[in-house]
Amino acid sequence: MQHLLLIILVLCLSFKAHAQLAEIALIIDDMGNKDEDAQAFALPAEVTFAILPNKVLSKQFSERAREQSREVILHMPMESIAGIKEEHNSLNANMTTVQMRLLLQQALDTVPYASGVNNHMGSKLTQLDQPMAVMMEFLLQQGLYFVDSRTTSLSKAERIARQTGVMAVKRNVFLDHQADVGHIEMQFNRLVRLAKKHGRAVAIAHPYPQTLEFLHDNLALLEAQGISLVKLGDFIRNDEKHVSQGNQSFGSANTAK
Ligand SMILES: [Zn+2]
Repeated sequence: MQHLLLIILVLCLSFKAHAQLAEIALIIDDMGNKDEDAQAFALPAEVTFAILPNKVLSKQFSERAREQSREVILHMPMESIAGIKEEHNSLNANMTTVQMRLLLQQALDTVPYASGVNNHMGSKLTQLDQPMAVMMEFLLQQGLYFVDSRTTSLSKAERIARQTGVMAVKRNVFLDHQADVGHIEMQFNRLVRLAKKHGRAVAIAHPYPQTLEFLHDNLALLEAQGISLVKLGDFIRNDEKHVSQGNQSFGSANTAK
């Protein structure tokens, strides 16, 4: 009997210790542009890929990720303020509801198994109530969640998603806005600090060789720092509880793309 009580006590303590681990979710954006992006498949399966639609590699990457039990999301191109380097099939402010829904559906068809969507660029579109409401309504019907990449501090996307009933989080840190190792290391340390302080943080990176090498070496060290790398879907479901318990989400935009 005493043994049984001891075992229960140990199980409770280990569960508590595990429950207290801070969580990080990591997304690799812009996947599917080129063959070399496939190097990212060597990252742990908890890392989510945000795959650009309508590319030669979109479907192939989605299927390969599924074989690894890796989550994928649609990296949906949206209109930016600068309007430069826009992707071919971007959602833009002049579109009708019907046009937007059609473009979203076509994009989604090329990224099978997507469990959510985040924005590629979008510093203009994510500030606009009407297009965001149209998109979130579409996501709600499709059972998809939304990650606000926060390419502008004025983005309304996360708020409108929540108002519509779509599960949503926002990006807290861009790891490689500047693609040199010194900057990546600084941002990674910032990510770790935020996760420890708030219990959770979301980072976005890109499939640059220097980023992939850095992540390969450093993600494995998180656990020893009391941080668990979790799948984005799990992170978002946990985040819903976190926010509904009255905790504020946090973060800032540091780029306008
Ligand atoms: Zn992007």
